[in-house]
Amino acid sequence: MLYFIEVVLPLAVAKTFTYQVSEAEFNYIQIGMRVAVPFGKTKIYTALVLDKNNTPPQLYQAKEIHQILDDKPVINLFQIEHWKWIASYYMCSLGEVFRSALPSGYILESETIISAKQNHDIPNEELKDDEYLILEALKSQSSITIQEVIKILGKKTVFPVINKLLAKGALVLEEEISEQYKPKLVRYIKLQDEFLQQDKLAELLVLLSNAKKQRELVLHYFQLQAKEKGPISLKKLVELSGCSATIVKSLVDKAIFEEYYLVKDRVAFEKEENSQFTLSEAQQNAFDSIKTNLEEFDVSLLHGVTASGKTEIYIKLLEEYIQAGKQVLFLLPEIALTTQLVQRLTAYFGNEVAVFHSKYTNNERIEVWNQVLENSPKAKVVIGVRSALFLPFSNLGCIIVDEEHEQTYKQTDPAPRYHARDAAIVLARQHKAKVLLGSATPSLETYYNVQSKKYGLTELNIRYGNVVLPEIELIDIKDKYFRKKMTGHFSDVLLEGITETIANGEQVILFQNRRGFSPYVECVTCGHVPHCPSCDVSLTYYKFKNQLRCHYCGYSIANPTHCHTCQSVDLTTKGFGTEQIEMELKAIYPDKNIGRMDQDTTRGKFGFEKIIDSFKNREIDVLVGTQMLAKGLDFDNVTMVGILNADNLLNQPNFRAYERAFQMIMQVSGRAGRSEKQGKVLIQTYNPYHNTIQQVLSNDYLGMYKEQIYERKNFKYPPFFRLIKLTLKHRDFDRLKEGSLWFYNVLVQSLPIPVLGPEEPAINRIRNEYIRTIMIKIPTTAHLGNTKAIITKMRNSFEAIPQYRSIRVTINVDVY
Ligand code: ADP
Ligand code: ZN
Ligand code: ZN
Repeated sequence: MLYFIEVVLPLAVAKTFTYQVSEAEFNYIQIGMRVAVPFGKTKIYTALVLDKNNTPPQLYQAKEIHQILDDKPVINLFQIEHWKWIASYYMCSLGEVFRSALPSGYILESETIISAKQNHDIPNEELKDDEYLILEALKSQSSITIQEVIKILGKKTVFPVINKLLAKGALVLEEEISEQYKPKLVRYIKLQDEFLQQDKLAELLVLLSNAKKQRELVLHYFQLQAKEKGPISLKKLVELSGCSATIVKSLVDKAIFEEYYLVKDRVAFEKEENSQFTLSEAQQNAFDSIKTNLEEFDVSLLHGVTASGKTEIYIKLLEEYIQAGKQVLFLLPEIALTTQLVQRLTAYFGNEVAVFHSKYTNNERIEVWNQVLENSPKAKVVIGVRSALFLPFSNLGCIIVDEEHEQTYKQTDPAPRYHARDAAIVLARQHKAKVLLGSATPSLETYYNVQSKKYGLTELNIRYGNVVLPEIELIDIKDKYFRKKMTGHFSDVLLEGITETIANGEQVILFQNRRGFSPYVECVTCGHVPHCPSCDVSLTYYKFKNQLRCHYCGYSIANPTHCHTCQSVDLTTKGFGTEQIEMELKAIYPDKNIGRMDQDTTRGKFGFEKIIDSFKNREIDVLVGTQMLAKGLDFDNVTMVGILNADNLLNQPNFRAYERAFQMIMQVSGRAGRSEKQGKVLIQTYNPYHNTIQQVLSNDYLGMYKEQIYERKNFKYPPFFRLIKLTLKHRDFDRLKEGSLWFYNVLVQSLPIPVLGPEEPAINRIRNEYIRTIMIKIPTTAHLGNTKAIITKMRNSFEAIPQYRSIRVTINVDVY
């Protein structure tokens, strides 16, 4: 009898592969284990076992595996099923899902590059021979591939050795980011050893009889020591004694106290006392309503205004699932938000909380992976961004998707191009778990599902502690420019607001979305921006062709010489970013601290923490930032929020532009006045009478929803139509043009639904590759599976044509 296993490789190929194993291996191997296998002439990959059987492959001679890598499955059946769903729904290969799901240390391959960790010397006697050889090789070379390791060791079975060295912290994988922010050091105080005996203490107190404050401090120190088992931090000592840090210092100078530093442990979490809270009446009502909804629906929405205390409601809900012995997953749209949430959740749940995201090192991620796999008490609550969905849950009770409207839940590149909220709902269904979506500004899709009675709905309309929602004021910058009341990008009103807020010792957040990289044309006189007549999106300016084009239907006009509304010839292309705003502010307020939070300032593992901590500690007076700032952060001393140009948000060439603008402005406004004092929001705009701006002003989510859902229906967009976008790329302009036209034509012929394109996107060349896109709009009445099957078939025919084979095609389902 022959023995075979069916495996998936971490590659973008649709097929699975068959390898031959011995009888003993066959009996040992279980589905969900990893094996190292040869592939092609020289490559070695980590593959995942999907099946075992006795049938040899028909088209090729099965190769033998190199090695079994696990002694028990590290991927469970829930995951395999979920990954298959993702691959099929989002039209990618299972291998691509596998590749992005696992921490990279778990899918080593012959091409993986490793280097030695700096300043991490392991004594030679603790190293096995193989390990020693690898580290020796890395002394003469800064990095080597695993292929080279295979040569050095003279054998093919090297993954386990590498894994051991990774676990010992002696190696790092090339793609791991370096830690730029040093872990926080906490200052601790202890009594010098000589005073530790009882009789010495009496002596000491006599010695200090003339220094009353110092004597008091020493007594407090003893009190604290009796109460706390562990080390005593300076902060705690100062707090408890009410003495200042200078008194501590004088005792250090007298060699009575000694100072020392410890790294604040970020991974081992401590439960804090005083972390208990009770829900307000409104929160309690919302909580009860959620529970009732989740009995009837698998998915329910918590629509609660900013600072209504949604997090506390989530915590109480999660607690019930944990007590019932379940695992829970808390999804956030952005790593920037995990810091605060981790603090709040660990204060409550202690070390039952695990965190998973890409800024954690490979070892940390593998550790969390294994904790979840073992259903460990250390990972009852998992906080993560979208990739946390791939963890080996076996017993999920509930998934919370906070800020569910955020577009960052959708992965754009590389495949799988999945939407984490939607994939979470499918995952929950497999586990018979519940999903709670939360937002102050739900996505149209979700709210539509509520209206169609697919999801439950709970509303919470007041802020915690009855703090009033911020007062919003519009500033017409057209008028301000006209009256010469602008300093750089700041109106007089905005500057007054900033000045006054800082003078009160309070903080300011200024918002400028930087994503406006594609410039658009704007009339300086009246603010008019040319729009597409049939898509209702703004037209994008193409410098190269001197044209304005619609991204969605391909409509184009020559770049106008004058404004079509007011005839003015004063047209400009627009766009300014956070850096410019930061510079202007520094010039206006030279002696204030101006901070900036955007992708450039938050690199590195603790990049977000650094800025969020210093803003929270009030070391920054004005924080300028992009949409990162608009998401769920909680700062108690921010009383003013300024939006430099709301029109930037409205004029995005996207059918979601108005929905997003509404969400973004409401969210960023929600950062103001969260604790006691009512906040103030100043919005600069050329279009104070724009419907969306007016809806923001009157806090009218439903008004926005109704208007936008009508447009979506009219113009064939979600939730009435599903969008699938094909992107074709090639270095040769003409070949791409011809190929995409061919593809478009066969699609039009085979699909009885709208197919648009082939279109040149705003940025039509990236890294020397030209780009064309084709958009397919699938009505909810059409059969999705059949449509996708046809698209796949056409793609296969396309790739079978020799001159088009080199054109790369990517498919994005439910494009955002
Ligand atoms: P949201 O997520 O709805 O924007 P948060 O959960 O951040 O609001 O709550 C806003 C603020 O109110 C936070 O500082 C939070 O700690 C506080 N808060 C909310 N609910 C309670 C409660 N029941 N007890 C004490 N503080 C609360
Ligand atoms: Zn005009
Ligand atoms: Zn159009």
